[in-house]
Amino acid sequence: FSNTKHTVNINPTRTLFKIACTTDIPALDKQVFKKYLKLPQPSNKILATYIWIDGTGEQVRSKTKTCKHEPKSVDDLSWWMFDGSSTGQAEGENSDVFLKPVAIYNDPFLIGGKNKLVMCETYNSQKKPTKTNHRYDCDRTMKAAAQYKPQFGLEQEYTLLGRDGWPFGWPKSGFPLPQGPYYCGVGACQAYGREIVDSHYKACLYAGLEIGGTNAEVMASQWEYQIGPCNGIDAADQLWISRYLLYRVAEEYGVQATFDPKPMSVGDWNGTGCHANFSTEQMRKENGIKAIHEAIEKLKPRHMTHMKQYDPSGGEDNLRRLTGKHETAHYSKFSSGVANRGVSIRIPRQVDEDQCGYLEDRRPSANMDPYAVTNILVKTMCLNETD
Ligand code: ADP
Ligand code: MN
Ligand code: MN
Ligand code: MN
Ligand code: MN
Repeated sequence: FSNTKHTVNINPTRTLFKIACTTDIPALDKQVFKKYLKLPQPSNKILATYIWIDGTGEQVRSKTKTCKHEPKSVDDLSWWMFDGSSTGQAEGENSDVFLKPVAIYNDPFLIGGKNKLVMCETYNSQKKPTKTNHRYDCDRTMKAAAQYKPQFGLEQEYTLLGRDGWPFGWPKSGFPLPQGPYYCGVGACQAYGREIVDSHYKACLYAGLEIGGTNAEVMASQWEYQIGPCNGIDAADQLWISRYLLYRVAEEYGVQATFDPKPMSVGDWNGTGCHANFSTEQMRKENGIKAIHEAIEKLKPRHMTHMKQYDPSGGEDNLRRLTGKHETAHYSKFSSGVANRGVSIRIPRQVDEDQCGYLEDRRPSANMDPYAVTNILVKTMCLNETD
């Protein structure tokens, strides 16, 4: 990052990828770009962008290659490689890391051809999953628990930042009016950056994701969208692709998206989470509330085991967010309740009325790895894993 002026201290423990850069990167002419996007693409040339989680366990990387045929499934795509010493995933002397295609989506950026986005798992030179490849174990768990038909709905919150690392649209080194008008807010001084949110929504739909909705959140420049309900491993695959789409859409507008769980650590500003809504077939059926209560009993003694999986820093990131204030339960205390937003596990009001449906785990941080989170939820509630 040669043009980095300074590193903003939004997350003091993991500053490397919380960067701020010079704000005077010139915006390139989008009209000129459009001219090239419109060039006809040979039908025997399909662009596949391989996407993977890097060594931070939080940031994504991608690179693109030309294929001869339109891949219809991941079986039509070959494994690939990258330089893991540049992504915190390997040493320089043994730097090749393998990419295994696992899910495929339409590419909303390189339009004009049947181009694809490809979610990948990473494997080291011995073909063992890398440290940040949590999908490998998640996939095994989902297969082992397939009979329970687990479903997830993930509420991804995030914050938009300028290139300077300060929340998008906030007065430079200052603050907007206190929280209150921003949640689901409408208007020039309530909603900050809606073009990005709606562009991302359309991009998700085009890619083929089950995006359920969007809303403005409590802090100015903080937003949410939901992925799901999705079955098993799909939820996490789709969430990672939706994050990639958000980074890319925001990039086009010259804005950063961050999943940091507490971007504003001082003052009265909400943190950023990723509530995980979960159900089994039994919970969705008549009188499923019984299975929901049984599941909560299984979650209770596993609280700290779950907390370690609920952010990419073994729980440290979430310590800044789960304070017991700002619609959160305290980090070290498990609690549950109907319609209560100050608890670890909430039973939504409608679910209590219907006596069936799903439960909401409010603990996962916005930067959590959904492979790790959906994995442990199923291990605890379906496979009866105990410590
Ligand atoms: P809130 O903000 O009130 O917590 P949202 O509408 O943002 O609620 O999110 C609710 C989530 O619950 C959605 O992501 C939806 O996909 C998910 N959901 C709904 N039904 C189920 C279900 N049966 N199993 C799992 N998730 C579900
Ligand atoms: Mn090269
Ligand atoms: Mn929500
Ligand atoms: Mn929310
Ligand atoms: Mn929620």
